[in-house]
Amino acid sequence: WSSRDFPWTKKLEADNKKVFGNPSFRPNQREVINATMSGCDVFVLMPTGGGKSLTYQLPALICPGITLVISPLVSLIQDQIMHLLQVNIPAAYLSSNMEWTEQQEILRELNSDVCKYKFLYVTPEKVAKSDVLLRHLESLHTRESLARIVIDEAHCVSQWGHDFRPDYQGLGILKQKFPTVPVLALTATATMSVKEDVVQALGLANCIIFRQSFNRPNLRYSVIPKTKKCLEDIDNFIKKFHFDQCGIIYCLSRMDCERVAEKLQEYGHKAAFYHGSMEGAQRANIQKQWSKDEINIICATVAFGMGINKPDVRFVIHHSLPKSIEGYHQECGRAGRDGLPSSCVLYYSYSDYIRVKHMISQGTVDQNSFGSGYGRSNVATSGRILETNVENLLRMAWIVLKCLRSLLCNVSMLKSFNTFFRKTCDNCSKIQKCIEKDVTEVAKQLVELVKMTGQKFSSAHVLEVYRGSLSQYVKKHRHESLRLHGAGKHLAKGEASRVLRHLVTEDILVEDVKKSDLYGSVSSVLKVNESKAYNLFSGAQTMRLRLPSSV
Ligand code: ADP
Repeated sequence: WSSRDFPWTKKLEADNKKVFGNPSFRPNQREVINATMSGCDVFVLMPTGGGKSLTYQLPALICPGITLVISPLVSLIQDQIMHLLQVNIPAAYLSSNMEWTEQQEILRELNSDVCKYKFLYVTPEKVAKSDVLLRHLESLHTRESLARIVIDEAHCVSQWGHDFRPDYQGLGILKQKFPTVPVLALTATATMSVKEDVVQALGLANCIIFRQSFNRPNLRYSVIPKTKKCLEDIDNFIKKFHFDQCGIIYCLSRMDCERVAEKLQEYGHKAAFYHGSMEGAQRANIQKQWSKDEINIICATVAFGMGINKPDVRFVIHHSLPKSIEGYHQECGRAGRDGLPSSCVLYYSYSDYIRVKHMISQGTVDQNSFGSGYGRSNVATSGRILETNVENLLRMAWIVLKCLRSLLCNVSMLKSFNTFFRKTCDNCSKIQKCIEKDVTEVAKQLVELVKMTGQKFSSAHVLEVYRGSLSQYVKKHRHESLRLHGAGKHLAKGEASRVLRHLVTEDILVEDVKKSDLYGSVSSVLKVNESKAYNLFSGAQTMRLRLPSSV
């Protein structure tokens, strides 16, 4: 699709430079444009910042008729329209929040013989709920004026994705009603199951798929254990590496956002918080200040993200565990869209892991960018998916110390680490210093100890007993007299807790979360999952862990 000359090739080159000011095309842009302009249905997987918008904006300029764009967020739509109007391309949007008279005016324009718009943006809800819109689209189609249908953030169709939106599932109606109009589906979420879901739901059985490497060479990834000094560390990190630069700090709860922002302000940073419980106007105001560089650092839940089109975000810090690998990839993807070196730092703590799990089970994670997108009935399904995702993330990224870059690029195993990976993924540099060890015996002892203590104690307590603590609490429960008291005291610092965490992510031990207080703190006790533990004790399963040599 790139080398052949098409009738539009010259105009394409010219308009890319003249209208959009781009010196050349980025990877896959030209190919996607040629395929969609040839009338094919196209599915595009391109990382955030890869330049997806151009793949439908340029064709819209060249082809007669209107391009219908379905996009999940009104703020994202407004941002796109602003950019189009800046380069004199007439565009409009319809949303249920608009005044009815305003909507009428746009619909009237669509009906006119020489409609001035090149783009009509709508939210998926509008397609699902508005017969009037569908009638107008039919009329445009009859007049051969419906040039193309673009489905942006197409992964929202899939329940397996991290941003599922029920109304996206209804978009299959578009291909049924307008089978000859080319559909262009765009996403930055790369898993196979999501792709298959989307293709099926949208009726794109014969589409051409463009999939681009998700490797972002300019991003450097690190995973750092979170301690009480985490905010001081963040302050030092920003002052040392990204002084006065722009960044996002993702936090788990709304209260965390406020607390982190306040602390960073105390440290002298231009920081603000952003989350789903703020008024729309308040959020818009923060976004505006951020785009004008009046605020450098936004401390946000994942409500801040989609539609953020700031090219010079130099760092994305996860103050707490992200909810999935895909989510993590997208959130990191907001750094370094201009191609310059940028940092992605993930702070990990076991207690955050328990908090995320608890929030997911309660359905109280600030789930997505859309605020109201989740109906109650979806919480259970998405909860299960999120839970698996979080566990996968942990298992792969931190505990097993795999290459973060290969993980994010969806390469399951990267066998040989070249110098480049070693330089830009912290885990890879650590792996160089790792030892792999058989920890089956330690694992068995820990499981036994959980049983011996009656499956009524926290992981911290079980570890204390295993290390041989003689604290008052240990004595109160007479755990100093247990056979395995002190059995792990010869182990290197941190080793037993790593094994225990691994037992939890392998589902051999289960954290039974007990309660949460107003501040989101939770307590939990360890229980044994007998069916899984059986494999360990019968010898069917051994356990090997990569442990940093310092541990
Ligand atoms: P995506 O939707 O894939 O996240 P965008 O379409 O928002 O990415 O593009 C990201 C940035 O890259 C925008 O600032 C856009 O102007 C810029 N861009 C897109 N294509 C090109 C290109 N061919 N050359 C230079 N910049 C480009």
